[in-house]
Amino acid sequence: MLLKITILPGDGIGPEVTDEAVRVLNNVARRFNHELSLDRKEVGGAALLSSNHPLPDDTIHSCLASGAVLLGAVGGPSFDKFPKHLRPESGLLRLRRELGAFANLRPAVCFGGIYFGEPRVTQGASGNREALDTMRYTEPEIERIARMAFELARTRRRMVTSVDKANVLDCSRLWREVVTGVAQDYADIKLGHMYVDSAAMLLVSRPADFDVLLTENMFGDILSDEAGGIVGSLGLLASASIGGTVGLYEPVHGSAPDIAGRGIANPLGAILSAAMLLRYSFKLEREAGSIEAAVSSVLAAGHRTRDLAKPGQTALTTAEMGAKVAEAVVPQMAIH
Ligand code: NAD
Repeated sequence: MLLKITILPGDGIGPEVTDEAVRVLNNVARRFNHELSLDRKEVGGAALLSSNHPLPDDTIHSCLASGAVLLGAVGGPSFDKFPKHLRPESGLLRLRRELGAFANLRPAVCFGGIYFGEPRVTQGASGNREALDTMRYTEPEIERIARMAFELARTRRRMVTSVDKANVLDCSRLWREVVTGVAQDYADIKLGHMYVDSAAMLLVSRPADFDVLLTENMFGDILSDEAGGIVGSLGLLASASIGGTVGLYEPVHGSAPDIAGRGIANPLGAILSAAMLLRYSFKLEREAGSIEAAVSSVLAAGHRTRDLAKPGQTALTTAEMGAKVAEAVVPQMAIH
């Protein structure tokens, strides 16, 4: 199969971790007889510096013409001075919109809500300014993400926990009502509702009680970083933005400017994002599973990057960890 993928390394540790995901993808392609066609493009601060725009047209065209997009991370303190529409994060939000993604699996968080809602402004004279953001969801938006959560639960432990703040927010009350309605079509799935504050607490104290967590964008953003703390590092978490024309896959973490350029970032979130890419965009379940199994076996063998290492334990570099996973995907073969 021809796997046409646009690679967007981005900023900070983005290029470092993306290189390792590509290394693993190359090995998977060799082992399973696929052909990789990779198109590298710029996004975020890197694009801003070279072409004055965080999402150049050339990048959008390449993404729309490919089967999937793999992204590293965008942003960094040196770009914070740029106006909002030129900030690297604006480029990423626009890319998600252009690709039509409405669902973000981390395992499952919804795009929309307060990150996209209008109006959103900061106004007034200095010293007396006010800022406003809008959280807005329509019934069809809630229904489609809820269906995705229930379908996902069918492939797992058949439990959905819908997280909201229905005691204070209208958006959440509508959310709860629509999710409860959709649940009628999924009698085999156990649905629970939880307020976001108790979910945040229970996720730390009893993480194994959860299976699929269904929630709106901002709650999901915060809870998924919390999940990073629970699994050991933000560097381990992968994500998939799907539901549109082309899927976008990226680690949950950001550009980590504090460690960028030192070769010590954990590439496993990016590598596991590549596994999700094979599963959701190319329906290559065996290949995706081979990457996940390789990551498990490398971790089980005790290999750690710095963020996961215990005091005194030797830490692998980004490239060493990538190479270990790539080796584990492709079993040693006789060299003639
Ligand atoms: P961050 O995720 O970049 O970093 C948070 C902490 O986790 C840092 O201490 C960092 O060193 C550590 N960390 C993150 N990924 C790691 C990895 N793979 N291996 C080891 N340690 C890792 O979040 P932040 O510091 O809040 O944001 C930094 C920049 O990234 C900001 O400009 C922000 O806007 C941007 N950002 C981008 C995305 C994205 O591209 N999707 C997501 C979040 C933040």
